[in-house]
Amino acid sequence: MIAVVVHGGAGDIAAERHRRAADGCAVAAAAGFAVLAAGGRALDAVQAAVRVLEDDPEFNAGTGAALTRDGTVELDAAIMDGAGRAVGAIAAVPDLRAPIELARAVLDDGEHVLLAGPAAWRFAAEHGIVPVPTATLITERARARWQAESERRAGAPGRSATVEGGTVGAVAIDVHGHVAAATSTGGTSYKRAGRVGDTPLPGCGTWADDAGGAASATGDGEAIIRATLCRAMVDRLASGEDPDLAATAVLAELARCGGRGGVIAVDRRGGVVVAHSSVTMAFAAVVDDGAGPCRAAGVSTTGTCLTALLAT
Ligand code: ASP
Repeated sequence: MIAVVVHGGAGDIAAERHRRAADGCAVAAAAGFAVLAAGGRALDAVQAAVRVLEDDPEFNAGTGAALTRDGTVELDAAIMDGAGRAVGAIAAVPDLRAPIELARAVLDDGEHVLLAGPAAWRFAAEHGIVPVPTATLITERARARWQAESERRAGAPGRSATVEGGTVGAVAIDVHGHVAAATSTGGTSYKRAGRVGDTPLPGCGTWADDAGGAASATGDGEAIIRATLCRAMVDRLASGEDPDLAATAVLAELARCGGRGGVIAVDRRGGVVVAHSSVTMAFAAVVDDGAGPCRAAGVSTTGTCLTALLAT
């Protein structure tokens, strides 16, 4: 059994964008599946899938990332190998076209788990990563979103930044039974500069452990952190809980922490789930239990889990 599941963020995607979001997720899942089908590692598969979405301007990661209150771009990403819990993450780093590649370099280097802020560029440069001009990461849609948010706040100042959807993530299980997870985001729209969300925090937005499975979360980051959502999800899978029930339980816990969002996961037996309490969640999956690949992609508006879709 090999499987990859991808998400393109929990949020409230307008109906006219559903097709583009679903197609983007499908392309990313295909990229991840190609790695798995060639006998490659789950770790490389989730990285390949997330890289596709970081370059797709539809999504809030890499190109197309949400802007901070200052109009800047600060990127969060994490990647985790379920074999040995190796993890690499970066937080609030500017000018990265491919945040997941820097997170992967942190994982491979192994000295630290999480590097934050512009100083992470020293490490990036040592690993041959070159900065891109901030302007190349900013799309018209991200700028318009920033403008609308700044006008909304001028009328009714509010505290919390808003989740618009578009964070990206992937989970996979490879032919050797190893799992991995990766997540990448520009964070919440109109966040304070320096704000770090759940995405790069191991156990919160990203977690993988061969003992249970792998999970990637999206949605209200502060609440996901308080719920340590992905660690809770994988611990439930490790105890043998059905993936759909585990997802329902962690989303209920997220609600208790005051947030809405979504989670994707694979368990060590190749069970897969996509679940959300947000209005929409873009996703795609390719699962092959030996009888050939079974594919699903879409923008869910029902919170329904993937299992049913793959069974049809
Ligand atoms: N969880 C992300 C964050 O809070 C946002 C998202 O998933 O859309 O940074």
